[in-house]
Amino acid sequence: MTAFQYREGVLHAEAVSLSALAQTVGTPFYCYASGEIEGAYSAMERALSGLPATICYALKANGNLAVVRTLAKLGAGADVVSEGEMRIALAAGVPAAKIVFAGVGKTAEEMAAGLQADILQFNVESVPELEALSQVAESLGRRAPVALRVNPDVDAMTHAKISTGQAENKFGIDLGHIQDAVKLALDLPGISLEGLAVHIGSQLTDLAPYRAAFGKLTALYRDLKGQGVPLRRLDFGGGLGISYDGETPPDLAAYAALVRECAAGLPAELVFEPGRFLVGNAGVLVTRVLYVKQGTARRFVIVDAAMNDLIRPSMYDAFHAFKPVAAPAAGAGEMPVDIVGPICETADTFARQRGLPPVAAGDLLAICSSGAYGAVMSSTYNGRRLVPEVLVRGGDHAIVRARPSYAAMLAETPLPDWLDPARPAARGVA
Ligand SMILES: *Cc1c(COP(=O)(O)O)cnc(C)c1O
Repeated sequence: MTAFQYREGVLHAEAVSLSALAQTVGTPFYCYASGEIEGAYSAMERALSGLPATICYALKANGNLAVVRTLAKLGAGADVVSEGEMRIALAAGVPAAKIVFAGVGKTAEEMAAGLQADILQFNVESVPELEALSQVAESLGRRAPVALRVNPDVDAMTHAKISTGQAENKFGIDLGHIQDAVKLALDLPGISLEGLAVHIGSQLTDLAPYRAAFGKLTALYRDLKGQGVPLRRLDFGGGLGISYDGETPPDLAAYAALVRECAAGLPAELVFEPGRFLVGNAGVLVTRVLYVKQGTARRFVIVDAAMNDLIRPSMYDAFHAFKPVAAPAAGAGEMPVDIVGPICETADTFARQRGLPPVAAGDLLAICSSGAYGAVMSSTYNGRRLVPEVLVRGGDHAIVRARPSYAAMLAETPLPDWLDPARPAARGVA
Protein backbone atom coordinates (compact mmCIF):
# COMPACT_ATOMS: atom_id res chain seq x y z
CA MET A 1 0.00 0.00 0.00
CA THR A 2 3.00 2.28 -0.47
CA ALA A 3 1.12 4.32 -3.08
CA PHE A 4 -1.34 5.49 -0.42
CA GLN A 5 0.39 7.94 1.91
CA TYR A 6 -0.50 11.04 3.88
CA ARG A 7 0.67 14.29 2.40
CA GLU A 8 0.05 17.39 4.44
CA GLY A 9 -2.47 15.52 6.52
CA VAL A 10 -4.51 14.10 3.63
CA LEU A 11 -4.37 10.54 2.34
CA HIS A 12 -3.23 10.50 -1.28
CA ALA A 13 -3.18 7.92 -4.03
CA GLU A 14 0.24 8.61 -5.51
CA ALA A 15 0.06 12.42 -5.88
CA VAL A 16 -3.75 12.70 -5.98
CA SER A 17 -5.67 13.74 -2.88
CA LEU A 18 -8.44 11.28 -2.03
CA SER A 19 -10.33 14.10 -0.41
CA ALA A 20 -10.27 16.13 -3.64
CA LEU A 21 -11.30 13.06 -5.63
CA ALA A 22 -14.19 12.41 -3.26
CA GLN A 23 -15.42 15.92 -3.90
CA THR A 24 -15.47 15.56 -7.67
CA VAL A 25 -16.33 11.87 -8.06
CA GLY A 26 -18.64 11.48 -5.08
CA THR A 27 -18.52 8.57 -2.65
CA PRO A 28 -18.19 5.68 -2.50
CA PHE A 29 -15.58 5.06 -5.20
CA TYR A 30 -12.70 2.72 -5.89
CA CYS A 31 -9.31 4.26 -6.51
CA TYR A 32 -6.41 2.32 -8.03
CA ALA A 33 -2.77 3.37 -8.18
CA SER A 34 -1.05 2.55 -11.48
CA GLY A 35 2.40 2.64 -9.93
CA GLU A 36 1.51 0.01 -7.37
CA ILE A 37 0.14 -2.34 -10.07
CA GLU A 38 3.20 -1.81 -12.23
CA GLY A 39 5.50 -2.28 -9.25
CA ALA A 40 3.93 -5.61 -8.31
CA TYR A 41 4.13 -6.87 -11.88
CA SER A 42 7.75 -5.81 -12.28
CA ALA A 43 8.70 -7.39 -8.97
CA MET A 44 7.23 -10.69 -10.10
CA GLU A 45 8.85 -10.42 -13.50
CA ARG A 46 12.22 -9.75 -11.87
CA ALA A 47 11.82 -12.66 -9.47
CA LEU A 48 11.11 -15.02 -12.38
CA SER A 49 13.71 -13.53 -14.71
CA GLY A 50 15.71 -16.04 -16.71
CA LEU A 51 12.85 -18.55 -16.62
CA PRO A 52 10.74 -19.14 -19.74
CA ALA A 53 7.78 -17.64 -17.89
CA THR A 54 4.56 -15.94 -18.99
CA ILE A 55 2.72 -14.02 -16.29
CA CYS A 56 -0.97 -14.31 -17.10
CA TYR A 57 -2.86 -11.83 -14.94
CA ALA A 58 -6.04 -13.41 -13.53
CA LEU A 59 -8.70 -10.91 -14.59
CA LYS A 60 -11.20 -12.14 -12.09
CA ALA A 61 -9.34 -10.19 -9.38
CA ASN A 62 -10.02 -6.91 -11.17
CA GLY A 63 -11.32 -6.84 -14.72
CA ASN A 64 -11.40 -3.10 -15.21
CA LEU A 65 -10.24 -2.43 -18.76
CA ALA A 66 -7.79 0.27 -17.71
CA VAL A 67 -6.25 -1.97 -15.05
CA VAL A 68 -5.87 -4.81 -17.54
CA ARG A 69 -4.39 -2.45 -20.12
CA THR A 70 -1.90 -1.12 -17.55
CA LEU A 71 -0.66 -4.70 -17.15
CA ALA A 72 -0.89 -5.53 -20.86
CA LYS A 73 1.40 -2.60 -21.61
CA LEU A 74 4.03 -4.23 -19.41
CA GLY A 75 3.75 -7.45 -21.39
CA ALA A 76 1.37 -9.38 -19.16
CA GLY A 77 -0.76 -12.20 -20.50
CA ALA A 78 -4.20 -13.00 -19.11
CA ASP A 79 -5.93 -15.80 -17.27
CA VAL A 80 -9.64 -15.62 -18.06
CA VAL A 81 -12.60 -17.62 -16.79
CA SER A 82 -15.32 -16.48 -19.19
CA GLU A 83 -15.81 -15.17 -22.69
CA GLY A 84 -16.48 -11.76 -21.15
CA GLU A 85 -13.08 -11.72 -19.48
CA MET A 86 -11.47 -12.93 -22.69
CA ARG A 87 -13.02 -10.05 -24.58
CA ILE A 88 -11.82 -7.59 -21.94
CA ALA A 89 -8.29 -9.01 -22.16
CA LEU A 90 -8.26 -8.75 -25.96
CA ALA A 91 -9.73 -5.25 -25.87
CA ALA A 92 -7.03 -4.26 -23.37
CA GLY A 93 -4.36 -5.34 -25.82
CA VAL A 94 -3.34 -8.70 -24.36
CA PRO A 95 -2.16 -10.85 -27.28
CA ALA A 96 -4.32 -13.97 -27.78
CA ALA A 97 -1.12 -16.01 -27.66
CA LYS A 98 -0.79 -15.04 -23.99
CA ILE A 99 -4.35 -15.87 -22.92
CA VAL A 100 -5.16 -18.92 -20.81
CA PHE A 101 -8.83 -19.90 -20.51
CA ALA A 102 -9.55 -21.48 -17.11
CA GLY A 103 -12.74 -22.42 -15.30
CA VAL A 104 -14.66 -25.54 -14.44
CA GLY A 105 -17.76 -24.80 -16.53
CA LYS A 106 -16.87 -23.44 -19.95
CA THR A 107 -19.77 -23.44 -22.39
CA ALA A 108 -19.51 -24.57 -26.02
CA GLU A 109 -19.91 -20.93 -27.09
CA GLU A 110 -17.00 -19.90 -24.87
CA MET A 111 -14.84 -22.71 -26.22
CA ALA A 112 -15.60 -21.63 -29.78
CA ALA A 113 -14.80 -18.01 -28.96
CA GLY A 114 -11.44 -19.02 -27.46
CA LEU A 115 -10.60 -21.20 -30.45
CA GLN A 116 -11.54 -18.49 -32.92
CA ALA A 117 -9.40 -15.99 -31.05
CA ASP A 118 -6.47 -18.45 -31.15
CA ILE A 119 -5.64 -18.33 -27.44
CA LEU A 120 -2.58 -19.99 -25.88
CA GLN A 121 -4.40 -22.76 -24.03
CA PHE A 122 -7.53 -24.06 -22.39
CA ASN A 123 -7.05 -25.37 -18.88
CA VAL A 124 -9.39 -28.33 -18.86
CA GLU A 125 -10.81 -29.54 -15.57
CA SER A 126 -12.73 -32.72 -16.38
CA VAL A 127 -13.12 -35.55 -18.88
CA PRO A 128 -16.57 -34.38 -20.06
CA GLU A 129 -15.13 -30.91 -20.65
CA LEU A 130 -12.28 -32.44 -22.64
CA GLU A 131 -14.75 -34.33 -24.83
CA ALA A 132 -16.91 -31.26 -25.34
CA LEU A 133 -13.89 -29.12 -26.26
CA SER A 134 -12.73 -31.73 -28.76
CA GLN A 135 -16.13 -31.70 -30.44
CA VAL A 136 -16.26 -27.92 -30.66
CA ALA A 137 -12.72 -27.77 -32.03
CA GLU A 138 -13.43 -30.48 -34.61
CA SER A 139 -16.56 -28.69 -35.77
CA LEU A 140 -14.37 -25.64 -36.41
CA GLY A 141 -11.66 -27.70 -38.10
CA ARG A 142 -9.20 -26.98 -35.31
CA ARG A 143 -7.31 -28.62 -32.48
CA ALA A 144 -7.63 -27.01 -29.07
CA PRO A 145 -4.37 -26.45 -27.18
CA VAL A 146 -4.97 -27.99 -23.75
CA ALA A 147 -3.39 -28.13 -20.33
CA LEU A 148 -5.03 -30.57 -17.95
CA ARG A 149 -5.69 -29.01 -14.57
CA VAL A 150 -4.61 -31.42 -11.90
CA ASN A 151 -6.23 -31.52 -8.48
CA PRO A 152 -3.19 -32.33 -6.35
CA ASP A 153 -5.18 -32.85 -3.14
CA VAL A 154 -3.20 -30.26 -1.22
CA ASP A 155 -4.63 -28.08 1.54
CA ALA A 156 -3.77 -24.48 0.67
CA MET A 157 -4.33 -23.45 4.32
CA THR A 158 -6.49 -20.55 3.26
CA HIS A 159 -10.18 -19.66 3.70
CA ALA A 160 -12.43 -22.63 2.79
CA LYS A 161 -14.30 -20.59 0.16
CA ILE A 162 -11.11 -19.84 -1.76
CA SER A 163 -9.37 -23.18 -1.34
CA THR A 164 -9.42 -25.12 -4.60
CA GLY A 165 -6.81 -27.88 -4.53
CA GLN A 166 -8.30 -30.57 -2.33
CA ALA A 167 -10.02 -33.75 -3.50
CA GLU A 168 -13.34 -32.47 -2.15
CA ASN A 169 -13.17 -29.31 -4.29
CA LYS A 170 -14.83 -29.10 -7.69
CA PHE A 171 -11.61 -28.10 -9.43
CA GLY A 172 -9.25 -30.09 -11.61
CA ILE A 173 -8.80 -33.77 -12.36
CA ASP A 174 -7.79 -36.00 -9.47
CA LEU A 175 -4.28 -37.43 -9.69
CA GLY A 176 -5.76 -40.93 -9.68
CA HIS A 177 -7.70 -40.17 -12.88
CA ILE A 178 -5.10 -38.15 -14.70
CA GLN A 179 -3.45 -40.97 -16.66
CA ASP A 180 -6.82 -41.88 -18.21
CA ALA A 181 -7.51 -38.25 -19.03
CA VAL A 182 -4.09 -37.96 -20.70
CA LYS A 183 -4.77 -41.06 -22.82
CA LEU A 184 -8.12 -39.65 -23.84
CA ALA A 185 -6.61 -36.25 -24.64
CA LEU A 186 -4.03 -37.92 -26.89
CA ASP A 187 -6.78 -39.86 -28.69
CA LEU A 188 -9.32 -37.10 -29.18
CA PRO A 189 -9.11 -35.57 -32.65
CA GLY A 190 -9.86 -32.02 -31.54
CA ILE A 191 -7.33 -31.87 -28.69
CA SER A 192 -3.65 -31.01 -28.70
CA LEU A 193 -2.34 -31.88 -25.23
CA GLU A 194 0.37 -29.38 -24.38
CA GLY A 195 0.63 -29.06 -20.65
CA LEU A 196 -0.40 -29.53 -17.07
CA ALA A 197 -1.81 -26.93 -14.72
CA VAL A 198 -2.49 -26.49 -11.06
CA HIS A 199 -4.11 -23.80 -8.91
CA ILE A 200 -4.67 -24.66 -5.27
CA GLY A 201 -6.34 -21.56 -3.91
CA SER A 202 -6.13 -17.89 -3.21
CA GLN A 203 -4.50 -15.69 -0.56
CA LEU A 204 -1.79 -18.24 0.24
CA THR A 205 0.52 -16.95 2.92
CA ASP A 206 2.73 -20.00 3.21
CA LEU A 207 4.97 -21.67 0.63
CA ALA A 208 4.51 -25.20 1.96
CA PRO A 209 1.26 -25.93 0.06
CA TYR A 210 2.90 -24.63 -3.13
CA ARG A 211 5.85 -26.93 -2.54
CA ALA A 212 3.55 -29.92 -2.14
CA ALA A 213 1.48 -29.05 -5.23
CA PHE A 214 4.38 -28.12 -7.52
CA GLY A 215 6.21 -31.28 -6.44
CA LYS A 216 3.28 -33.47 -7.47
CA LEU A 217 2.77 -31.55 -10.70
CA THR A 218 6.38 -31.71 -11.83
CA ALA A 219 6.71 -35.39 -10.87
CA LEU A 220 3.69 -36.10 -13.06
CA TYR A 221 5.15 -34.00 -15.86
CA ARG A 222 8.43 -35.96 -15.73
CA ASP A 223 6.56 -39.23 -15.64
CA LEU A 224 4.42 -38.35 -18.67
CA LYS A 225 7.37 -37.00 -20.63
CA GLY A 226 9.10 -40.32 -19.86
CA GLN A 227 6.10 -42.08 -21.41
CA GLY A 228 6.58 -40.01 -24.53
CA VAL A 229 3.68 -37.58 -24.01
CA PRO A 230 4.67 -34.41 -25.89
CA LEU A 231 4.09 -31.91 -23.08
CA ARG A 232 5.68 -28.46 -23.29
CA ARG A 233 4.01 -26.24 -20.70
CA LEU A 234 3.55 -26.13 -16.94
CA ASP A 235 1.04 -23.75 -15.39
CA PHE A 236 1.67 -23.06 -11.71
CA GLY A 237 -1.55 -21.08 -11.20
CA GLY A 238 -1.96 -18.06 -8.94
CA GLY A 239 -2.83 -17.59 -5.31
CA LEU A 240 0.05 -15.51 -3.96
CA GLY A 241 -1.24 -13.75 -0.87
CA ILE A 242 -0.93 -10.11 0.12
CA SER A 243 -0.83 -8.37 3.46
CA TYR A 244 -4.27 -7.26 4.70
CA ASP A 245 -3.66 -7.40 8.42
CA GLY A 246 0.09 -7.66 8.84
CA GLU A 247 0.27 -11.16 7.35
CA THR A 248 3.64 -11.92 5.84
CA PRO A 249 2.91 -13.10 2.32
CA PRO A 250 5.38 -15.48 0.72
CA ASP A 251 8.55 -13.71 -0.19
CA LEU A 252 8.68 -13.45 -3.99
CA ALA A 253 12.31 -14.52 -4.07
CA ALA A 254 11.50 -17.62 -2.04
CA TYR A 255 8.52 -18.38 -4.30
CA ALA A 256 10.72 -18.03 -7.37
CA ALA A 257 13.44 -20.18 -5.80
CA LEU A 258 10.84 -22.88 -5.20
CA VAL A 259 9.72 -22.65 -8.82
CA ARG A 260 13.32 -22.90 -10.03
CA GLU A 261 13.92 -25.89 -7.81
CA CYS A 262 10.75 -27.71 -8.94
CA ALA A 263 11.16 -26.92 -12.63
CA ALA A 264 14.93 -27.48 -12.75
CA GLY A 265 15.95 -29.37 -15.87
CA LEU A 266 12.37 -29.65 -17.13
CA PRO A 267 11.85 -28.84 -20.78
CA ALA A 268 8.81 -26.68 -20.11
CA GLU A 269 7.52 -23.19 -20.68
CA LEU A 270 6.04 -21.84 -17.46
CA VAL A 271 2.78 -19.99 -16.89
CA PHE A 272 1.81 -18.08 -13.75
CA GLU A 273 -1.66 -16.75 -12.97
CA PRO A 274 -1.41 -14.10 -10.26
CA GLY A 275 -4.49 -12.02 -9.60
CA ARG A 276 -4.71 -10.61 -6.10
CA PHE A 277 -0.94 -10.17 -5.82
CA LEU A 278 -0.85 -7.71 -8.72
CA VAL A 279 -3.79 -5.51 -7.79
CA GLY A 280 -4.93 -6.16 -4.21
CA ASN A 281 -2.82 -3.54 -2.51
CA ALA A 282 -3.16 -1.12 -5.41
CA GLY A 283 -6.72 -0.15 -4.59
CA VAL A 284 -8.82 1.47 -1.89
CA LEU A 285 -12.55 1.94 -1.56
CA VAL A 286 -13.23 5.47 -0.37
CA THR A 287 -16.38 5.90 1.67
CA ARG A 288 -18.00 8.68 3.68
CA VAL A 289 -19.31 8.39 7.21
CA LEU A 290 -23.05 9.00 7.18
CA TYR A 291 -23.84 8.67 10.86
CA VAL A 292 -22.23 7.69 14.11
CA LYS A 293 -24.76 5.92 16.25
CA GLN A 294 -24.27 5.01 19.87
CA GLY A 295 -26.14 1.79 20.70
CA THR A 296 -26.54 0.26 24.15
CA ALA A 297 -23.72 -2.18 23.61
CA ARG A 298 -21.81 -0.78 20.67
CA ARG A 299 -20.88 2.28 18.75
CA PHE A 300 -21.69 2.04 15.03
CA VAL A 301 -20.02 3.98 12.27
CA ILE A 302 -22.46 3.88 9.36
CA VAL A 303 -20.74 4.52 6.03
CA ASP A 304 -22.06 5.00 2.50
CA ALA A 305 -20.25 1.94 1.08
CA ALA A 306 -21.89 -1.42 1.60
CA MET A 307 -21.54 -5.14 1.10
CA ASN A 308 -22.76 -4.83 -2.49
CA ASP A 309 -19.71 -2.63 -3.20
CA LEU A 310 -17.15 -4.78 -1.34
CA ILE A 311 -18.41 -8.19 -0.32
CA ARG A 312 -15.21 -9.73 1.04
CA PRO A 313 -15.90 -9.03 4.73
CA SER A 314 -19.41 -10.51 4.49
CA MET A 315 -18.44 -13.41 2.28
CA TYR A 316 -15.05 -14.46 3.61
CA ASP A 317 -14.88 -12.72 6.99
CA ALA A 318 -12.07 -10.82 5.34
CA PHE A 319 -10.14 -8.12 7.17
CA HIS A 320 -9.65 -4.71 5.55
CA ALA A 321 -7.72 -1.96 7.30
CA PHE A 322 -9.47 1.44 7.55
CA LYS A 323 -7.63 4.72 7.25
CA PRO A 324 -9.19 8.11 7.83
CA VAL A 325 -8.56 10.26 4.74
CA ALA A 326 -7.83 13.23 7.00
CA ALA A 327 -4.89 12.21 9.16
CA PRO A 328 -5.99 11.92 12.78
CA ALA A 329 -4.53 14.45 15.20
CA ALA A 330 -1.42 13.24 16.98
CA GLY A 331 -2.37 11.32 20.12
CA ALA A 332 -6.03 11.15 19.03
CA GLY A 333 -6.39 7.65 20.43
CA GLU A 334 -8.73 4.97 19.16
CA MET A 335 -12.05 3.56 20.23
CA PRO A 336 -13.69 0.30 19.22
CA VAL A 337 -16.51 0.70 16.71
CA ASP A 338 -18.51 -1.47 14.33
CA ILE A 339 -18.17 -0.16 10.78
CA VAL A 340 -21.33 -0.97 8.85
CA GLY A 341 -23.03 -0.14 5.55
CA PRO A 342 -26.62 0.95 4.90
CA ILE A 343 -27.89 -2.39 3.52
CA CYS A 344 -30.71 -4.14 5.33
CA GLU A 345 -28.69 -7.17 6.41
CA THR A 346 -26.57 -7.68 9.48
CA ALA A 347 -23.99 -9.22 7.11
CA ASP A 348 -23.42 -5.69 5.83
CA THR A 349 -20.64 -5.18 8.33
CA PHE A 350 -17.10 -4.25 7.35
CA ALA A 351 -15.51 -4.55 10.79
CA ARG A 352 -16.53 -5.37 14.34
CA GLN A 353 -15.03 -3.74 17.41
CA ARG A 354 -12.34 -2.13 15.31
CA GLY A 355 -10.13 0.50 16.85
CA LEU A 356 -10.64 3.76 14.96
CA PRO A 357 -9.68 7.35 15.79
CA PRO A 358 -12.74 9.50 16.55
CA VAL A 359 -14.80 10.03 13.39
CA ALA A 360 -17.85 12.15 12.70
CA ALA A 361 -20.50 12.31 10.01
CA GLY A 362 -18.99 13.60 6.77
CA ASP A 363 -15.52 12.18 7.39
CA LEU A 364 -13.93 10.09 4.66
CA LEU A 365 -12.46 6.63 5.25
CA ALA A 366 -10.30 4.55 2.93
CA ILE A 367 -10.97 0.83 3.02
CA CYS A 368 -7.51 -0.49 2.28
CA SER A 369 -6.34 -3.36 0.07
CA SER A 370 -9.55 -3.37 -1.94
CA GLY A 371 -8.02 -3.60 -5.41
CA ALA A 372 -8.70 -7.33 -5.79
CA TYR A 373 -12.09 -9.02 -5.61
CA GLY A 374 -13.70 -5.66 -4.82
CA ALA A 375 -15.37 -3.87 -7.73
CA VAL A 376 -15.58 -7.09 -9.76
CA MET A 377 -17.78 -8.71 -7.13
CA SER A 378 -20.05 -5.72 -6.69
CA SER A 379 -23.77 -5.73 -7.43
CA THR A 380 -26.72 -3.38 -7.44
CA TYR A 381 -28.35 -5.00 -4.39
CA ASN A 382 -30.72 -2.66 -2.57
CA GLY A 383 -31.10 -0.62 -5.75
CA ARG A 384 -27.61 0.78 -5.32
CA ARG A 385 -25.67 1.92 -8.36
CA LEU A 386 -22.36 0.25 -9.20
CA VAL A 387 -19.44 2.11 -7.65
CA PRO A 388 -17.24 4.15 -9.98
CA GLU A 389 -13.58 3.29 -10.42
CA VAL A 390 -10.77 5.81 -10.70
CA LEU A 391 -7.26 5.10 -11.93
CA VAL A 392 -4.47 7.34 -10.71
CA ARG A 393 -1.10 7.84 -12.34
CA GLY A 394 1.22 10.26 -10.58
CA GLY A 395 -0.72 13.49 -10.19
CA ASP A 396 -3.26 12.55 -12.86
CA HIS A 397 -6.44 10.54 -12.64
CA ALA A 398 -9.20 9.19 -14.87
CA ILE A 399 -12.63 7.81 -14.17
CA VAL A 400 -12.32 4.35 -15.69
CA ARG A 401 -15.83 3.30 -14.78
CA ALA A 402 -18.49 5.91 -14.30
CA ARG A 403 -21.28 5.72 -11.78
CA PRO A 404 -24.38 4.88 -13.84
CA SER A 405 -27.27 7.30 -13.75
CA TYR A 406 -30.52 6.18 -12.20
CA ALA A 407 -32.09 6.60 -15.63
CA ALA A 408 -29.57 4.15 -17.12
CA MET A 409 -30.25 1.74 -14.28
CA LEU A 410 -34.00 1.84 -14.89
CA ALA A 411 -33.58 1.53 -18.66
CA GLU A 412 -32.04 -1.91 -18.14
CA THR A 413 -35.41 -3.36 -17.20
CA PRO A 414 -38.12 -2.92 -19.80
CA LEU A 415 -41.67 -3.98 -18.95
CA PRO A 416 -43.84 -6.60 -20.61
CA ASP A 417 -46.41 -4.93 -22.87
CA TRP A 418 -49.25 -6.10 -20.63
CA LEU A 419 -47.80 -3.93 -17.87
CA ASP A 420 -46.80 -0.98 -19.98
CA PRO A 421 -47.48 -0.86 -23.74
CA ALA A 422 -45.26 2.21 -24.04
CA ARG A 423 -41.96 0.43 -23.35
CA PRO A 424 -42.44 -3.19 -24.40
CA ALA A 425 -39.94 -5.86 -23.43
CA ALA A 426 -38.68 -8.23 -26.11
CA ARG A 427 -39.78 -11.84 -26.47
CA GLY A 428 -37.45 -14.73 -27.29
CA VAL A 429 -33.83 -13.64 -27.40
CA ALA A 430 -32.28 -12.45 -24.14
C1 LIG B 1 -8.73 -17.20 -9.06
C2 LIG B 1 -7.73 -17.87 -9.91
C3 LIG B 1 -6.45 -17.32 -10.06
C4 LIG B 1 -6.01 -16.07 -9.35
O1 LIG B 1 -5.96 -16.25 -7.98
P1 LIG B 1 -5.28 -15.13 -7.06
O2 LIG B 1 -5.40 -15.68 -5.70
O3 LIG B 1 -6.04 -13.89 -7.24
O4 LIG B 1 -3.87 -15.01 -7.50
C5 LIG B 1 -5.57 -17.96 -10.90
N1 LIG B 1 -5.90 -19.09 -11.55
C6 LIG B 1 -7.12 -19.65 -11.43
C7 LIG B 1 -7.42 -20.88 -12.18
C8 LIG B 1 -8.07 -19.06 -10.60
O5 LIG B 1 -9.26 -19.62 -10.49
